[in-house]
Amino acid sequence: MPEAEAVPDREPDRDPDPGPDPDADPDPDADPDADPDPDPDPNQTHPVILTVALATLLTQSDGGVRSPDGGRPPAGLACLPTWYAGTVKWKADAGWGLDLENGVFLSWDTGVTVDPDDPESEEVPDLHDIFDPPYVTGKIVPIDTTDAGPIEDPGRARVEQLFLATYGSKRSEVQEHLGKVRFFGLRYPFHERAAEALRNVVTRLEPQVKENPKLLPFLKDIGGTWIWRTIKRSKRLSGHAFGIAIDLNVERSNYWRWTYRGQPMIWKNKVPQEIVDAFEAEGFIWGGRWKHFDTMHFEYRPELISPACRTPAR
Ligand SMILES: [Zn+2]
Repeated sequence: MPEAEAVPDREPDRDPDPGPDPDADPDPDADPDADPDPDPDPNQTHPVILTVALATLLTQSDGGVRSPDGGRPPAGLACLPTWYAGTVKWKADAGWGLDLENGVFLSWDTGVTVDPDDPESEEVPDLHDIFDPPYVTGKIVPIDTTDAGPIEDPGRARVEQLFLATYGSKRSEVQEHLGKVRFFGLRYPFHERAAEALRNVVTRLEPQVKENPKLLPFLKDIGGTWIWRTIKRSKRLSGHAFGIAIDLNVERSNYWRWTYRGQPMIWKNKVPQEIVDAFEAEGFIWGGRWKHFDTMHFEYRPELISPACRTPAR
C-alpha cells in the first residue's frame, strides 16, 4: 500500500494507549521448528463450502431493494453487505448507498473522484471507488512504475466509515474482536471476521511448503498483522488497524518507499506466485499489484476478488 507498512510495523506502536502487545506472541505449545500445526481446527470450514455459502449470500445481499424506477443496485454495492456492515438503500436525494446502524448513509457514487496520483490524499473515497480500478488476480504481472499513466493501486481506496462500522469503531473495539491464527509456527492476532480466511490460506500453503521448502522463509519471521495505526503521512487508518492485513517476511519484500530519493521507483518482487495464489483464493488482495508496490502486504478484501461484485466503470 502507499502505507509505510514495513517500517512502522517494526517500530513501537505510537498509540498512547499502552494496551497489550499487538505483536505476535510465541505459541507456548508449539516448537517453532516443528512441522506446521499438528492439530488442525476441526471446525474449519472447507474453502469450497465457504465459496458456495458466499455465492448463496451474494444473491440475497441486496435485500431485493429497487430504485423507484425498478432498477437494481450496482453489483459492487449489492455484495458489500455479505462482508461489511450496512444495508443497501436507495435515497431520493443521494441515490444508491449503504445505511449503517449508526445512522450514517454512505453514498455509492458522490460524483467526486479521489486523486489516484496522490497516495496521501485526504479526500474521502465513495463506495464506488473501492472497486476502481478493478483488482485482477492470476499470474503476477510486473508493473511499469516509471510510465506517466495514472497510478493504479487496486484496493487502496478504503471507505473508513465502512471499515470502522464493520470491524470496530476504535482500537479497543477492534481488539475485542481479534482471534488468533496459527501461521507457520506462531500465532498472530487477526480480526475474527477474517481469521477463517487466513486459516484457509495456511491450509492451502502447508502442503505446498512441504513440497517446496523454498516457500517457507517468506512465511516465517513475518512483519506483523494487527496494529492500531494510521498510514504513514496520512490520517487514514491502515488495513492493519482493522486486523485484516498481514505483512510477510520484510527481508524478502519490496516496498515503493524504499526507493532512494532521486531514483526512479522500479517495481520489484520476490514473493512466489504460489503464495499470492493461495491468499487471493481466500479473498485477500496483494500489495504487489499496486504501482505503490508493497509486496509483503496481503489484506482481506473479498469484495475485490469475488467476480459477482464486479461493477462497471463510472
Ligand atoms: Zn502491510
